[in-house]
Amino acid sequence: MKKTDPNCLFCRIIRKEIPSDVVYEDDNILAFNDINPQAPIHILVIPKDHISGINEVEEADKDTICHILAIIRNIAQEKGLDKSGYRVVINSGRDAGQAVQHLHFHLLGGRALQWPPG
Ligand code: AMP
Ligand code: ZN
Repeated sequence: MKKTDPNCLFCRIIRKEIPSDVVYEDDNILAFNDINPQAPIHILVIPKDHISGINEVEEADKDTICHILAIIRNIAQEKGLDKSGYRVVINSGRDAGQAVQHLHFHLLGGRALQWPPG
């Protein structure tokens, strides 16, 4: 049984109650285009289990997290970003501006990205 939160935006996207532009999907992971892209390629990759954020990641989630990283690598390759470069971001908490309390990895690429991010 997947952990789910009835009111969580990304759980609702997983349940297809809210439409999204899906890039990749399997039993454990969903990847979709960010609705407000910050780069030419801006994809969110999320576990189908509701995990509120990186602080709530548990030992039992390690296969899922590793799987997410492998899928990010694959998507980056498909988009040609492995050649040009890309960034993977997890925002956590207020100071990082985390807006959605469901763990998500931002995959950003397609332009030169500033560092530090601000
Ligand atoms: P964060 O600030 O790290 O919590 O990121 C939340 C991200 O979710 C932002 O980049 C938003 O643009 C994105 N977002 C919010 N609602 C949707 C939606 N319905 N579909 C796709 N992306 C969304
Ligand atoms: Zn959720």
